[in-house]
Formats: sequence, C-alpha cells, structure tokens
Amino acid sequence: MKIIVVGSGYVGLCTAVGFATLGHDVVCVDVDEEKVDKINKGEVPIYEEGLDKMLSQALQENKLHATTNIESVKETDFVFVAVGTPSKENGSIDLKYVESASVDIANFIKDRNYCTVVVKSTVLPETTEKVVIPILEKTGKKAGRDFGVCANPEFLREGKAMDDFFNPDRLIIGELDKKSGDILEKLYDNFKSPIMRTDLKTAELIKYASNAFLATKVTFINEIGNMCKNLGIDVYDVAEGMGLDKRIGKNFLQAGIGFGGSCFRKDVEALLSKTKETRAESKILSTVLDINKDQPLRIVHLLKKRLPNLNEKTIAVLGLAFKEGTDDIRDAPSISIIAELLKHGCIVKCYDPKASDNMSKIYPNIDYCNSAGAALNKTDACLILTAWDEFKKLSDKDFSNMKSKIIIEGRKVLDKSLVTSFEGVLW
Ligand code: NAD
Repeated sequence: MKIIVVGSGYVGLCTAVGFATLGHDVVCVDVDEEKVDKINKGEVPIYEEGLDKMLSQALQENKLHATTNIESVKETDFVFVAVGTPSKENGSIDLKYVESASVDIANFIKDRNYCTVVVKSTVLPETTEKVVIPILEKTGKKAGRDFGVCANPEFLREGKAMDDFFNPDRLIIGELDKKSGDILEKLYDNFKSPIMRTDLKTAELIKYASNAFLATKVTFINEIGNMCKNLGIDVYDVAEGMGLDKRIGKNFLQAGIGFGGSCFRKDVEALLSKTKETRAESKILSTVLDINKDQPLRIVHLLKKRLPNLNEKTIAVLGLAFKEGTDDIRDAPSISIIAELLKHGCIVKCYDPKASDNMSKIYPNIDYCNSAGAALNKTDACLILTAWDEFKKLSDKDFSNMKSKIIIEGRKVLDKSLVTSFEGVLW
C-alpha cells in the first residue's frame, strides 16, 4: 500500500517506520525542514529503541522518504494525520496543526484518486466530523464517496513505541462509512491485535477515556503512596498486593512523583474543557490534575526535612526524561522539581542517559554531567527521578563520593541490597 503520514513527531515517525518495515511505501510529510532532512539522512530526531535501525533499513530499501511538500506525492491509498494537538492556555485543545494539515491534505486529494484519510492525532469527539471533514470537503469532493475517512487513535507508549506499533493491545477503527473502515481494517490484516470498529466520535472518545483512566489510576496509587509515607508502609508492596487482583492489574500502579509526558495532562485538560462545553462536569479528572501538580514537589519537601537550608547546596538530579526509555521531557516532573531547587538557591548537577540535550533548552545554565558518577561527585544530596535501568544498578560505591549521603528516590529504582541507606518519596 502507499501511505502518507503527515507529521513526523513521535507518533508520525514511529507509524511511518512501522508501516515501511512491514513493506508499505511510506512518505513522511512534515513542515519542519530540519526534521525532514534528518529523517532522509537516517538520523532519528527522537530516542526510541530500535527506531534508528528500522529507519535505516526502510531508507535503504527505498520504502520511506520524507518531504515538506505533500504535493510531490503522485497517488496514495492512505493519508495518516499525526500532527500535534497541544493545549491552549485555558487547557482546551489547539487544533491549529490539525486544521493546517487538513488544508494541505484537501489540496492534495482534490486532483487525486480515492484515498482514505485517517486521523491518528488525539482529537476530541466530533473533531474529525466537524473540523477535518468540512475542510476536506471544501474541495467539492464528498467524504464517504470520493475519499474515505477514519479515526484511528494511537495508544503507543514512549519507550516501547515500536513494540506497541507491531503488537498493539487493540486497534480502534472509527469509520465514517463501512468502505472506509473495511479499507483500513485490511491495512491491519496481519496484525494479531483485536480490532474494534465503531463510529468516528466513539473512537475519538475511547482514546481520551483511556488516557484519563490511566492518569487516574496512577494518581490513585500516588495518593495511597502519600498515605504510606506517613504510615511507614512501602507503597510498592501495597501496589504489588493490589495488582495481583485480576480486576485491578499491576500496570499503572507505579507510584512516584507524578505522571508526565506529552499526553496525560494535555488530554485530561482537553477532555475537561469539552465536558464543560457540554455542561457536564468531572470532579474526578479535576482532582487528578490538582494532585498531579503537587506530587513532584513532595520530593523537595522531603529533601528540606533532611537539609533545612537548601541555599547553595549542590544537588545531584539523576533522570530528567518523564520516564525511562525516551528522551522526551514534555511535562516531565523533573522540570518543576529543578525549578523548585533553583528557587531555593540550590546548585543543580544532573545526568540523564538521553534527555540532557532536551532539558538544556529549558535550563541552559545548570550542570549537565555525562555520568551518574560525575553528577554525584561532591554533592550534598541526590534525587532520582527516572527509573533508567542503569540507575537500578547503582551501589554504595557509586554514592561514596557524595559530601553527605542523602539519597531520595522519586520512583522505585534503587536495589536495597546494593544501597544501604536511602529513602523513597512514598515509602
Ligand atoms: P509531536 O509534536 O512530536 O509531532 C508533531 C509533528 O507534526 C511535528 O514534527 C510538527 O512539525 C508536525 N506538523 C505540525 N503541523 C504540520 C503540518 N501542517 N503538516 C505536516 N507536519 C506538521 O507530536 P506527537 O507526540 O507525535 O503527537 C502527535 C499526536 O499523537 C498528538 O495528537 C498526540 O496527542 C498523539 N499521541 C501522542 C503519543 C505520544 O506518546 N507522543 C501517543 C499517542 C497519541
């Protein structure tokens, strides 16, 4: 099949490389010239395990190339929309990229044969119907007759994105009409995952409801963790016991300094603003956001108990990415934690195996080290914020060059048999 993917960010690039790896002919379209050049040179603009090799292979086999100009493509079977859908200041969804991509796609489909436009970006219920389709139909072509339309939300986990592309838990196909859905289902023929077909707005809401649920689940265990800290109980033991119950499950019970990443806050805020628009309310989701905003700062409060005067103290921060396996720092708890440390006059020395470059755009003036050992050298305390595998192997010896051995982990990271004295934010 011939596939165009509009937007070569996390989702677009992983989708494009995934389809190319499966043998389809893929064109990545992005407005960012630098990104397009990088992709054509086989340089991956993000860190995601396995993506670089798969991209090189796809380029070598002429299965993928990138361009800024969709018009340079002759014909296609599919156009996937994978542009960003950020929040506006008030939390509502900003559709400017979806709209501008839709205008480009409209111009493209105007003089081409039937193809199916698939909205993969996370968009609120009714967006495909009320925003995307009207723009596409300005061409005089009719959706469902002259071109197909589906909503096919993406559920990939950063850090496991390629695994999730090839083996998603489920494929949700929202369809304008049966023909559109049949065509998209055929593209996913060799996938072993369950496929659910539904209408456009239901598919759109399935994505939001899923993210809102996961954000709630992780916030729930964080609240239990906050109670555990006061009760002298280890929240990870509680989570393990809860997770053995099949009705609960062990995933998303990893308590810590709050959720981050590009999606959860943005999607929960967008869903809340849509809820207000329909004059409904969601007390749960507002509370989830409130709790999550405060959660990262708990680690600084704990640090202050151990070091009451933080002014001019040197603090090692291990881990900047919002989670292990990625260089993504969007909404990472580390951002507000570093801000708080700097507010207290701390000198911050940090280390992350992948995310330092991204963080240096936000904090250009803190010290970025190239190993955990370098970051720990002569520091007054250490905060561990991301559960990278290499931090799990740290032992007493690695912490021996600290000025004072105050170690606080914000997630379950260190091994109690390797490090004798440390504290958890929730245990
Ligand atoms: P991103 O910001 O990493 O990438 C978006 C890309 O779109 C950028 O490269 C940008 O230059 C490009 N773009 C913007 N306007 C364009 C246009 N008119 N034409 C062509 N390219 C254009 O975003 P992302 O993280 O990949 O997310 C994309 C969508 O997928 C969002 O709706 C997001 O909520 C959703 N999503 C993201 C994830 C994730 O883990 N990142 C997971 C599931 C769903």
